[in-house]
Amino acid sequence: MALIVQKFGGTSVRDRDRILNVARIVAGTRARGNDVVVVVSAQGDTTDDLIAKADEITHEANKREMDMLLSSGEQISIALLAMALQSIGCPAISLTGWQAGFRTDRAYTRARIKKLETERIESELSKNRVVVVAGFQGINRYDDITTLGRGGSDTSAVAIAAALHADLCQIYTDVDGVYTADPRLVPNARKLPSITFDEMLELATLGAQVLNNRSVELAKKYSVNLEVRSSLTDVPGTIVKEVADVEGMLINGVTKDVKVAVISILDVPDVPGVSFKVFSLLAQRKINVDIILQSIGRENNKDLIFTVALEDAEAARALLEENLARFGGHRVLVDTDVAKVSIVGAGIQSHPGVAARMFETLYENNINIRMISSSEIRVSVLIAKEEADRAVAAIHSEFFD
Ligand code: ADP
Ligand code: ASP
Ligand code: MG
Repeated sequence: MALIVQKFGGTSVRDRDRILNVARIVAGTRARGNDVVVVVSAQGDTTDDLIAKADEITHEANKREMDMLLSSGEQISIALLAMALQSIGCPAISLTGWQAGFRTDRAYTRARIKKLETERIESELSKNRVVVVAGFQGINRYDDITTLGRGGSDTSAVAIAAALHADLCQIYTDVDGVYTADPRLVPNARKLPSITFDEMLELATLGAQVLNNRSVELAKKYSVNLEVRSSLTDVPGTIVKEVADVEGMLINGVTKDVKVAVISILDVPDVPGVSFKVFSLLAQRKINVDIILQSIGRENNKDLIFTVALEDAEAARALLEENLARFGGHRVLVDTDVAKVSIVGAGIQSHPGVAARMFETLYENNINIRMISSSEIRVSVLIAKEEADRAVAAIHSEFFD
């Protein structure tokens, strides 16, 4: 008998029919003799709708209250799914994040899991029940509800799989696996039978929302057997694992991230310590910086240019403007009309021409590159937001057609 964790995203539990469909998948897995823990997200666009509701009240909602609100979406799903399971004769019990033992840090709306106390889940499993857990949520040390950041239910599922040493963690979604590009954007994208944790982590971090990047990080750390598959068709999905099946694939995927902003600090003095002051300040506020460019010094001044997540852009601007005198900068500019387009693949480090082929494709399509960054397994370019879809399609066709 195996222990299987199955996670179902928002579209998979969108309405009554989809919930009954999920109940059949789960009950089938249990009927084959497995213990099952199910993690669910909020139905359909519930989380977006809740955010919009908060926005109707205030644009600066208190983050604790935001988490109180957002966590309600998943609570609806667990109750409905448990009822659906019971209605088809499958014993089941729903648990909120705190009932399931998710302990997080204090960072409301983007909390990190610190500990998972599994006693309750294990005791329910020993009573032969399917345990239905609310994804995306936990509690902090003040016993207040926290949420794990958008897409966080994937992380809840992988955390349970890791803590219980589950045999398999299946992420059921509305596509039947991980593709070489978002299939909604590139219709002839190909499904990957498998992908390594490292490549998946890059893809997820660079915008492929099919898996949340923290979930991939966790799965790698605890060697969780991870599969992405469809809740609507019963075909094998994509296995995410440590070692690649096929060597020699140049790249695995093309992805875009439109939720980025470029921040430029103009005319900072060309002296030691400026970057340290700027980036340590941002780090203290937990604002992640990605691509960094520093201009050549001119007349004892230089510019510092870097990207942050779009949601952090205003906080970063305010913080930097407040502290401008400390670095001696002149002005802070924020540009949100940008997108990051990336290629990912282990082949990049062994094939020197890959980046050049990407740049050539952009050139042929008359798309201007504003910034570039690369690692052993990825190349990212920053371009105008309105060109992002065209760039992804062109690069995908260059490498995969
Ligand atoms: P869920 O609600 O199940 O968590 P998400 O909407 O978060 O689902 O993620 C699934 C979506 O991810 C797909 O509908 C697809 O459009 C998108 N996606 C982006 N990049 C990729 C990719 N490389 N492969 C598969 N899906 C992708
Ligand atoms: N419901 C949350 C969200 O929309 C968590 C998730 O779906 O994973 O971000
Ligand atoms: Mg998701």
